[in-house]
Amino acid sequence: MRKPVIAGNWKMYKTIAEAVDFIEKIKPVAAKAEHCEVVAAPPFTALAAAAAAAKGSQVKISAQNCHWDKEGAHTGDISTVMLCDAGCTHVIIGHSERRHDCGETDEQINQKVKAALAAGLTPIVCVGETLAERERGETEKILERQFTAGLAGLTAADFSRIMIAYEPVWAIGTGRTATPEMAAEAHRYLRGLARQVFGEAAADGIRILYGGSVKPDNVGGLMAQNEIDGALVGGASLKVESFTALVNYPRG
Ligand code: PEP
Repeated sequence: MRKPVIAGNWKMYKTIAEAVDFIEKIKPVAAKAEHCEVVAAPPFTALAAAAAAAKGSQVKISAQNCHWDKEGAHTGDISTVMLCDAGCTHVIIGHSERRHDCGETDEQINQKVKAALAAGLTPIVCVGETLAERERGETEKILERQFTAGLAGLTAADFSRIMIAYEPVWAIGTGRTATPEMAAEAHRYLRGLARQVFGEAAADGIRILYGGSVKPDNVGGLMAQNEIDGALVGGASLKVESFTALVNYPRG
């Protein structure tokens, strides 16, 4: 069985004190939430303090990006070794905001995934089409390219250690959510790619999270889909009340 994951991507929000306060408040929520894993992704500056606050609890700490080199002349970048040192267990890789704001390529994403795996981190690898690509009927083509290039060279054992987040770009931060059926269709396609490339067991085991304007009032419908194994949430993960409601999503 695939254990669902509710992950909050805090993007460029929260000071160190705000992050620690949030983690302290969410710890008892995560402790009671045996049905899912809880992950929070603070900005770099708050990672170490958030991880110290989360230590020994059910809250896992994720970074939002990493570099592929262990160290080097890369001004402004952070390596996977540094993320482990700060107490991270997960790292979001290839978020559409980084693909679009920073021009991240599938090849760079692939290098980051490999570096994260080598460091013992769990990569949360984001894929998703833009509105124009969906309207041109290219959703599957884009997902195939991002999946194949982003995960090139991984073994089935490597693949069993990652999570995928399907995040249609047109649904991120727009209030426009994919319907549960649309999301499930994309997840089914991605799981099919996983079956072709990594085999049956890998496809059955991979957790595919949905991301894109997930809120307390739509999370139940999304999580009711067998294909949807969790949510990667931006805006609604920033308040303790809404993140708590997401973790305690309606279950049948
Ligand atoms: C995200 O940042 O990954 C995201 C899905 O954001 P939002 O929930 O705000 O759409």
